[in-house]
Amino acid sequence: MKMRLYNTLSRRIEELGASRPDGTLGLYTCGPTVYNYLHIGNYRTYVFEDILKRSLKLLGHRVRHVMNITDVGHLTSDADEGEDKLEVGGAREGKTAWEIADFYTKTFRADSAALNFDFQPRPAPRRADDGEPIDIECRATAHIPEQIAMVRRLEERGFTYRTADGIYFDTAKFAGYGVLVGGAHLAGLQEGARVAANREKRNLSDFALWKFSPAGRKRQMEWDSPWGRGFPGWHIECSAMAQTYLGETFDIHCGGVDHIPIHHTNEIAQAEAATGRSPFVRFWVHGEFLVMNKAKMAKSAGGFITLGDLSAKGFDPLDYRYFCYSAHYRRQLEFSWEALEGARSARRRLRETAGNLLQECGGKPGAPGGKAAGCLDRFKACLCDDLNMPQALASVHDALGELRDSAAERLAFLAEADQVLALRLTEPEAVVALPPELQAVFDRYVGARGRKDFAASDSARKELAGAGIRVRDTKGGSVWEKA
Ligand code: AMP
Ligand code: ZN
Repeated sequence: MKMRLYNTLSRRIEELGASRPDGTLGLYTCGPTVYNYLHIGNYRTYVFEDILKRSLKLLGHRVRHVMNITDVGHLTSDADEGEDKLEVGGAREGKTAWEIADFYTKTFRADSAALNFDFQPRPAPRRADDGEPIDIECRATAHIPEQIAMVRRLEERGFTYRTADGIYFDTAKFAGYGVLVGGAHLAGLQEGARVAANREKRNLSDFALWKFSPAGRKRQMEWDSPWGRGFPGWHIECSAMAQTYLGETFDIHCGGVDHIPIHHTNEIAQAEAATGRSPFVRFWVHGEFLVMNKAKMAKSAGGFITLGDLSAKGFDPLDYRYFCYSAHYRRQLEFSWEALEGARSARRRLRETAGNLLQECGGKPGAPGGKAAGCLDRFKACLCDDLNMPQALASVHDALGELRDSAAERLAFLAEADQVLALRLTEPEAVVALPPELQAVFDRYVGARGRKDFAASDSARKELAGAGIRVRDTKGGSVWEKA
């Protein structure tokens, strides 16, 4: 069975074959800018990317996955103006930009574990049994030489020019500019840039490759370069690191749809101009937004919801994961607490079913055979249909009905499907949800704290402690864990 995916580059659904004989696929997913907590909108994109990766693995591919951490160079304006978001974050919290990057990288790692991502961001790469690195987290600040080398190559090939504030890419020199947006959209790009246009830019869509540190002010993050002291532009980090770890051309590049017109458009221009090879990436796959009251959830807009906020209301991060499956990744998904509650109940029922089956079958799922294998094929077919998760989830419920006569078959099916669903359905040791009676106590605790009724919150805390559950109050809200 082969994955079929909508490719933003061709604007068609295409079959994704492996480009290497051993079936390995190179995947690059744009990581977060670590100047604040990530919100559940960001995590919708990461859930979709995780589903894609897990599906490819279920289909038998080895996936070499690279994700960057943007810890420098992402400015508050897409027109290469404004402050560096990391320095803004530092000023907000009375910390250095380095401390901010470190802190929010760690919260991202913790969230990634809670959401059960296959890619666990970590300082050292995860390696396959044969030693090959398969999951690589790369920080922009740890790859300055690679970025400088790419700008130099662009300079040698005549794609750059200098202004008072940096080295820019001349988009008019790159014939394929704007291919992701069909070129026609260039007018729109220029519209955006016009707001705060740098008068020295030759074309409105030109973008900074290297920015100079402002005269008379020492930036916290700055490096020497052949052009002067400064820092890399945001787009160059992804092209440079992707090519470092995945080669000059590779298979799949993902991100949210907001990256199509500028960030990914510029990534393609830099990468292809630097190497002279096209395509930089065979498949560009983009996820639609999580919206609330019809508006995109965004860090810059404030009022965003974090995983900590969900925990404070008694939700497990995996409830959110399940909620994400309710819409196809190319459709907007409207967040509401009611819908999340629905997802929580449905996930708990599934988990309970799996728990009962585990007990019935002595705790060990076997390999799916016979009818279960057929159900698994139907589940995979939904994944291969451009990652149709609502259908895939429906097929899980159909399978449970169809396999009702055999606990072993149901369990075997669920264990396999969970390699993609990643809901920890058949992991007996993982506490994935509080039993309902303890959940009620936890909810009481959160409510009492909210009302500053400390006598009531203390009593609830003690009750939970008696049941082996410890409560922690974090910046993002109260969370519980096994004592
Ligand atoms: P950023 O840290 O802003 O670069 O965002 C990290 C990832 O989250 C990118 O792939 C964005 O496209 C994605 N993203 C940002 N806001 C949303 C949203 N409301 N819904 C879905 N994805 C989002
Ligand atoms: Zn990127």
